[in-house]
Amino acid sequence: MAAEDPATRRVQVAEHPRLLKLKEMFNSKFGSTPKFYVRAPGRVNIIGEHIDYCGYSVIPMAVEQDMLIAVEPVKTHTLQLANTDPLYPDFSTTANNICIDKTKPLWHNYFLCGFKGIQEHFGLSKLPGMNCLVDGNIPPSSGLSSSSALVCCAGLVTLTVLGLRLSKVELAEICAKSERYIGTEGGGMDQSISFLAEEGTAKLIEFSPLRATNVKLPSGAVFVIANSCMEMNKAATSHFNVRVMECRLAAKVLAKHKGLQWDNVLRLEEVQSKLGISLEEMLLVTEDALHPEPYSREEICRCLGISLERLRTQILTPNTQDGESSGQRIA
Ligand code: ADP
Ligand code: MG
Repeated sequence: MAAEDPATRRVQVAEHPRLLKLKEMFNSKFGSTPKFYVRAPGRVNIIGEHIDYCGYSVIPMAVEQDMLIAVEPVKTHTLQLANTDPLYPDFSTTANNICIDKTKPLWHNYFLCGFKGIQEHFGLSKLPGMNCLVDGNIPPSSGLSSSSALVCCAGLVTLTVLGLRLSKVELAEICAKSERYIGTEGGGMDQSISFLAEEGTAKLIEFSPLRATNVKLPSGAVFVIANSCMEMNKAATSHFNVRVMECRLAAKVLAKHKGLQWDNVLRLEEVQSKLGISLEEMLLVTEDALHPEPYSREEICRCLGISLERLRTQILTPNTQDGESSGQRIA
């Protein structure tokens, strides 16, 4: 699997103005020199908006904008985070007892998601301390996945400080899972492309098991990514999770309708594969089983044969539990 490890290369910091600036700022912040730098890119999705969390394949590609972190491992068990953007305040915590507050998606919590993901994967009770200076240039909350770039970068920083190795696929799976600690129920596309992207090619990302295949871009093709300058913070609002929950409930109702064990079903693709049918047949099943008008919570409970309380506490996420009820979308 070594070929699939994240790439490492030696660079002359003096030859890279961004690294040089980061090194100088690191020095004035921590009074020392970074030992290494880690970067993870943002992404744009070409095909498959919002279907990764339904288990379906997507085609994203990385963008040049990225998250860059200068790192110095330290002997204490303290994690100190700073950011080149004064919008994001300094943060410090003991590296042994990481708490991620889902109710407040503060920037450092995204770092902690990646940090905790690696800790849990290796079953470590203690993590080494480190000083980190983060420099991101992905427009935040703009749909280019700045959040996942930060989570992935933090995961790779932590792995490197520990001196351990994982393949890019393993890292992507760990970070997809650990970004959910912030409260968003993402499907895994963003973390997968952040680790698996390659220059000059988009990737077909497929799930269960996670795999990425090159999708050659036409030579000379130019992709224009326009920024509407409207921000949507996915963890601070419920819009993202509402869509995930709507798809999840549809999957459960379909599974129940077809006589499948529905309790553990989370994604529409699981229903399709359990039924052993094609995508076209799945569409017919969906049209037959679901009506186009919005479902009320009461109707969903009737379809599933469960109480409103069970729907709220065992299926919905904290930020979708208390939305509108009858005749409305779930929040
Ligand atoms: P996106 O579509 O960019 O992933 P999200 O709402 O999921 O949007 O995540 C945006 C959050 O990611 C920001 O509110 C901030 O907490 C974090 N973030 C983005 N860029 C940076 C950065 N340069 N430094 C620190 N945190 C950042
Ligand atoms: Mg995000």
